[in-house]
Amino acid sequence: MNTILQQLHLVHDRISNAAISCDRHPDTVQLLAVSKTKPAAGVLTAYQAGQRQFGENYVQEALDKIASLRADCPDIVWHLIGPLQSNKTKPVAEAFDWVQSVSRLKIAERLSAQRPEHLPALNICLQVNISQEASKSGLSITEAEVLAADIAKLPRLCLRGIMAIPEATDDNEKLSAQLVELRQLFDRMAEKHPTIDTLSMGMSNDLELAVACGSTLVRVGTAIFGSRNV
Ligand SMILES: *Cc1c(COP(=O)(O)O)cnc(C)c1O
Repeated sequence: MNTILQQLHLVHDRISNAAISCDRHPDTVQLLAVSKTKPAAGVLTAYQAGQRQFGENYVQEALDKIASLRADCPDIVWHLIGPLQSNKTKPVAEAFDWVQSVSRLKIAERLSAQRPEHLPALNICLQVNISQEASKSGLSITEAEVLAADIAKLPRLCLRGIMAIPEATDDNEKLSAQLVELRQLFDRMAEKHPTIDTLSMGMSNDLELAVACGSTLVRVGTAIFGSRNV
C-alpha cells in the first residue's frame, strides 16, 4: 500500500482509540489533513482514500494547489491555517471554505466584504495564543471573547470556533492545563454564539491529549504526509 494511505489509516486509528478511551464517539473528532509544502499528488492520494478536509498555511502555494485539484477533487473543503495579511484576503475569500487563523477584526471585515455572493458564508475560527508566547500570533482569552462578538455580526462569515497551537513542551501537565483552558473558552463562546461547534487543536504529536481535552478537529501534517524540509 502507498505510504500516505498507510499513514492515513494509522492516524484514523489513533483518533478512534483516543476518542474511545475518553468515552467519546470517534465521529465527534474530525481530521484536517495538513498538506502545506506537499505536492498536489499527495492530496489527491488522500482524497481518493476518502479524506475531504485539507489545511494549508501559505496563501500562494494553496491557491495553486486548489486550482490544480479543482477538476479531480471538486468537494475538498479547504482550510487556511497560516497567517493572513490584509492584501491577500480577496483570493482567500474566493477560494477557501474556512479561515482558522483570524486574530484581527480588520481581516475579518475584509473577508466578509470580499466573500463572493454565490458562495456560502466563509467559516471562521479565531486563533488563540494560549501560552502568550511573543513569537506566536493569536489572541489572549479575553481578546478572543471580545472579537467573537464583533465577528458574529459580519454578514458573510460564519463563526465556527477557535484554533490553537499550544506551546511546544514535553511537560504534559502544562500542556493539558492549556488545552483544558481552551476547552473552557470554547464552551463559554458556544453558549453565546450558536454557530460555534469547532475546537481545532491537536497535531501529529499531541492529538491524543487534544482529543482527551475536547478537540473536535485535529490538524495533522507530518503523521500523514511525512516530515517537511522547508
Ligand atoms: C503545520 C501545521 C500543523 C500540522 O503539524 P504537524 O506537526 O505536521 O502535524 C497543524 N497546525 C498548524 C497551524 C500548522 O501550521
